[in-house]
Amino acid sequence: MTDTNAALRDRDLQVFWHPCTQMKDHESLPLIPIRQARGVWLEDYDGKRYLDAISSWWVNLFGHGHPHIDGRIREQLGRLAHVITAGFTHEPAVTLAERLVQRAPPGLTRVFYAENGSSAVEIALKMSFHAWRNQGCTRKQQFVSLTNAYHGETLGALAVGGVALYRETYGPLLMPCLQAPTPDCYLRPEGVDWETHSRELLAPMAALLAARSDEICAVIVEPLIQCAAGMRMYHPIYLRGLRDLCDRHGVHLIADEIAVGFGRTGTFFACEQAGITPDFLCVGKGLTGGYLPLAAVLTREAIYQGFYDEYATLKAFLHSHSYTGNALGCAAALATLDLFDASPVLASNGRLAEHLAQALAPLRDHPHVGEVRQTGLVAAVEMTPNGDRHSAYPWQERRGLRVYRHALERGVLLRPLGNVVYFMPPYVITTDEIDLIVAVAREGIDRATAD
Ligand code: PMP
Repeated sequence: MTDTNAALRDRDLQVFWHPCTQMKDHESLPLIPIRQARGVWLEDYDGKRYLDAISSWWVNLFGHGHPHIDGRIREQLGRLAHVITAGFTHEPAVTLAERLVQRAPPGLTRVFYAENGSSAVEIALKMSFHAWRNQGCTRKQQFVSLTNAYHGETLGALAVGGVALYRETYGPLLMPCLQAPTPDCYLRPEGVDWETHSRELLAPMAALLAARSDEICAVIVEPLIQCAAGMRMYHPIYLRGLRDLCDRHGVHLIADEIAVGFGRTGTFFACEQAGITPDFLCVGKGLTGGYLPLAAVLTREAIYQGFYDEYATLKAFLHSHSYTGNALGCAAALATLDLFDASPVLASNGRLAEHLAQALAPLRDHPHVGEVRQTGLVAAVEMTPNGDRHSAYPWQERRGLRVYRHALERGVLLRPLGNVVYFMPPYVITTDEIDLIVAVAREGIDRATAD
């Protein structure tokens, strides 16, 4: 019987190898077994509560245990949990595809399902390559991504990633890819605004595409926020310019909105802020409200039609995952979209974002904060020695971990990325709860930067 934190921890450490974790850390850093969760609150077996300020790795939108999503999944469970979707179909998958197409930037008419974000990225890469091949452009075999990019951890997704921590060890296994410098505004020169800086970073991308577009299938980007790189942000002007460059040079644009989609940045999709339609739109994480693993790639009619032919031409996209279009996942996603339809979520997020900005403002003057930045309901505080944007605490000092430990003691789940303390809360957080997470972050930052 497991009814205490200690008992479940002991069992866990015998068998469960956790993601993104040096397991030895748990000799001194206790795992937290969660028994139940409601709204923004997680509760462990000893009854201690933690405010989930990072939406359980950016997936949760409307809180844990939301009655509408719970109910819709239960209802679906009574009818059909899962069925093969090659040769068969089901109503939730069809309706979800229809509703995603309605919500997406104009021109995206076809939906291919996946089980997680990394798979969605792999699908977009393969589809882009294959679409060119189907047109006879066999020289196009390369992908361009941005420095600091993160698109997942499977080998193809990792190959287009640019965060050294995740990719370096596996370098010898990764397909060669091209990189252009990120338009991230953190390291912009003094006195230069976000828009100017991001626009200027189009020049190296333009040069790369001009020189090598005959070899390039697609450019892949995280619109507006490079999340895993430490919530690094840039101006929508870059996406606008990138769309033009891709059109001019005959290269696809893949928008990875796995982390930023579904209202995080202030619009339903981040691409809307640039008024662009990508050729491939990858969604995941919040798609099911943070309930079940489901992802999708949306694409244009012309791309779909490029695969549509007699079987013997071998133009079909034969990619297959066992749980493609899982019915329970689709039901959770439909319930999540219902919640967007039922109330003005983006307007309410805007008010919460404003409150978060005000609560964070005093941290701008903190002696060891280099920047406080925010896009929509995603905010980040960069800890730096003496507030200098051009220097960084060595990663070995693990100052973010100090903030993590402090916040847990105070009942808040913050999970800094290196020296970056960030907030990506579920949309049901209250203004009082925002004040709490900011106060706890401030205490954590004070402690983590005290020496
Ligand atoms: N793309 C982005 C932008 C992400 O942030 C992530 C996950 N953090 C992924 C892809 C991969 O998604 P998953 O973890 O579901 O494979």
